[in-house]
Amino acid sequence: MLVSAAEMLKKAKAGHYAVGQFNINNLEWTKAVLTTAQECNSPVILGVSAGAGKYMGGFKVVADMVKAMVESLNITVPVAIHLDHGTYEDCYKCIKAGFSSIMFDGSHYPIEENIAKTQELVNVAHALGLSIEAEVGSIGGEEDGVVGMGECADPEECKKIADLGVDMLAAGIGNIHGKYPENWKGLSFETLDAVQQLTGEMPLVLHGGTGIPADMIQKAISLGVSKINVNTECQLSFTAATRAYIEAGKDLVGKGFDPRKVLAPGYEAIKATVKEKMELFGSVGKA
Ligand SMILES: [Zn+2]
Repeated sequence: MLVSAAEMLKKAKAGHYAVGQFNINNLEWTKAVLTTAQECNSPVILGVSAGAGKYMGGFKVVADMVKAMVESLNITVPVAIHLDHGTYEDCYKCIKAGFSSIMFDGSHYPIEENIAKTQELVNVAHALGLSIEAEVGSIGGEEDGVVGMGECADPEECKKIADLGVDMLAAGIGNIHGKYPENWKGLSFETLDAVQQLTGEMPLVLHGGTGIPADMIQKAISLGVSKINVNTECQLSFTAATRAYIEAGKDLVGKGFDPRKVLAPGYEAIKATVKEKMELFGSVGKA
């Protein structure tokens, strides 16, 4: 059932577990995440970046596909379809396209402008029953081949944005997108603790979930993280399984070239990754 992310994250924060956001890229990805959530009886958030939305033919195509799949596959666990790192303009496009949740990433604006735009979008989203995520402090990652170290958000700025009524807050705590560099210093639990002290019940979001050790994930959840974004890890497991299929020459045997056969190992690999994350995050059985 398609819902906003507000209720599932409130429950997660109160229950000391986290809901996974898994970014989707195509029909197989969507089906793999949805069926695994149903099998695990777990709430789930489908993340859609602007790039993935464009790739799939536009935000409306994605929203309609997700809605149809939830209905046709009889997915009864709570599912949110969420814009990942949205611009101001894309937030409005996704609201119109039928998303149930948006993220406004105003972290590159001066704090006053981030606040003004976030406030406007909070009002619009809530009037229409959508949930909204905001970001404070930028989250590092690879840009133009350079891997930036994760920054730490200012807890006072987090409090200001949280008070605007957002449903979830992403704060940089040394986390980064993509693969972590060898010399990564780890998450700043000091920052996370300070942010939680000031924002109270606000569900906190951990971006860049790929490659953070399990014990750090669990500590982050104990300090108020209620949503964890996973993107790169599903891509890596999908591609490794697809590579193995081709390298084994299976596409050259019989009807092994059938795309439904070529994509099957990758599909199963995504399912295994999603299940592993749901178990780690503690969301299994929490639908
Ligand atoms: Zn992110």
